[in-house]
Amino acid sequence: MIIVRRSPRTGQFNKMDLPITQEQIDLWENDHVLIQNAMPQLTPDQREFLMTGYTAEDWAILFPPEEELCGLCDGPLPNCGCPGEWLDEHHSKDR
Ligand SMILES: [Zn+2]
Repeated sequence: MIIVRRSPRTGQFNKMDLPITQEQIDLWENDHVLIQNAMPQLTPDQREFLMTGYTAEDWAILFPPEEELCGLCDGPLPNCGCPGEWLDEHHSKDR
C-alpha cells in the first residue's frame, strides 16, 4: 500500500509503495507490536520511512559513510601515500 510520510530533513512529503497491509499497521500502531515483528518483510529502509519519514536518501545525506583517516599522516585511507606496511600495521592495531 502507498505510504505518505513527511521527511524531517526536507519537510517534503514522500510516497513509498510498501508491501504491507492495514492489519499490519494496526498491529504496530494500536497493539504496539514491534514493527520488525508486525512487518518482517520490510527492509530496514522501508521501516525507517514508515516510522520516521526519513528516506534512504535522507540517511545518506545526514549520515554519510565515515571516511577513514590514516593514523600516521591523517590522509584519507587507503590512498594516503604511506607505505603499505605502515597501513597494514595501522589497520591491525585499529581494529
Ligand atoms: Zn598515511
